[in-house]
Amino acid sequence: MDFEIIDFHMHPYLNDIDCTCIHRSAVTISVDETPRIMRENGVSKFCGSVVTHDRTSTVETDWELLKSLNDCAITLKDYYKGAYIHGCHVHPNFIEESIKEIDRFKASGTNLIGELVPWRFHYNEYASDNMKTILDYASEKGMILSIHPTTPDDMDNLCENHPNLIIVGAHPGEGEQYIRHVERAKKYKNYYVDLSGSGIHRYGATKRLVNEIGADKVIFGSDYAICNLQMYVDGVKNDYLLSTEEKRLILSENAKRILNI
Ligand SMILES: [Zn+2]
Repeated sequence: MDFEIIDFHMHPYLNDIDCTCIHRSAVTISVDETPRIMRENGVSKFCGSVVTHDRTSTVETDWELLKSLNDCAITLKDYYKGAYIHGCHVHPNFIEESIKEIDRFKASGTNLIGELVPWRFHYNEYASDNMKTILDYASEKGMILSIHPTTPDDMDNLCENHPNLIIVGAHPGEGEQYIRHVERAKKYKNYYVDLSGSGIHRYGATKRLVNEIGADKVIFGSDYAICNLQMYVDGVKNDYLLSTEEKRLILSENAKRILNI
């Protein structure tokens, strides 16, 4: 059965160093490869931030790098002609700059912030005062937030701080991490879980999420190009534990609803 598929969580790239694949010698690295791979796997739209293997040594120099990644995302949005929904980076040490980026991205036709990846950029919490200022603004502007998980407590505090901001937590994981995603999604109406990164290889993991938090809060993401898109698409599309309606919600309808597309 064919489903419309939106990959809510991936990372496109303009330059080699920004391609997140860690087995680069085995694959083709080219700006035209991303839409080809997406198309071949039946994905009509793909969303997320540009990240990089590049690193800065101190937080002071992080903004220059983040701004250049945001610039890349806007360039790719134009290059991919509507197939790519671009997500912006913000950073708690750069409040004014982050707010300007939210305005720039909103004006360029997206409501997506992230995926944010704090551990790459010298911060480790979303529930800080500085981040609250930035995300209060984001919430006011109708943006939505895609995040790499921090600690479960920090994630809970983030949800507590922003009851009107749609927050999509990545990587269901397993054990304690999985349980806390589930509890958070049950407690906070604005909290969703995206399937990318880890978790769905465990038998029954996706169906259990659906049973516990509802299919309307589970969102398909692959974390391409670090992860194998085909494995994620097939792992949801062919999961016989899921009903056709559950697959439709997970693979496209939920993303369309929160992205307003
Ligand atoms: Zn990611």
